[in-house]
Amino acid sequence: MDLFTYEDMKLIHRKTLGDSVPLELFRSVRLIGMYQGLPMKGASTTKTVGRKIGQSLPVENMEEVLSFFKELKIGIPSIIESTEKEIHIRIDDCFCKGLPTHPGNKTCDLEGAILEGAISRFNNGKVMVKEVKCNVNGDPYCEYCIKLL
Ligand SMILES: [Zn+2]
Repeated sequence: MDLFTYEDMKLIHRKTLGDSVPLELFRSVRLIGMYQGLPMKGASTTKTVGRKIGQSLPVENMEEVLSFFKELKIGIPSIIESTEKEIHIRIDDCFCKGLPTHPGNKTCDLEGAILEGAISRFNNGKVMVKEVKCNVNGDPYCEYCIKLL
């Protein structure tokens, strides 16, 4: 039994500051804290953290996963390619949109791991998500490749 659940996260009683924090705080945690602060740009940590968050989301199919991604304002996902074993998802308005480009750097792996954890809830845990494009890398949008194993 987890100490905190996703349902707990929604119990917000802040009278003055409400239920939002600025995007620059989320970006700071992600990019200054995790990407720059952890070994290997946070690679193994983001996998663990993202998967755990994804597994806690109350979703039962791909449609619900994608609508959560938008609801949490990580980005606006759309399926651009789909076969039995592989799905490509384009993310518009990703949290990283507008940051300076740094070719060779893809920064949205935690968000991909959230997808992975969420999809594993209804896909027998056999799923791998890889970030294949990123605004920060200089690509026109962020994109994930989802492999259903
Ligand atoms: Zn991104």
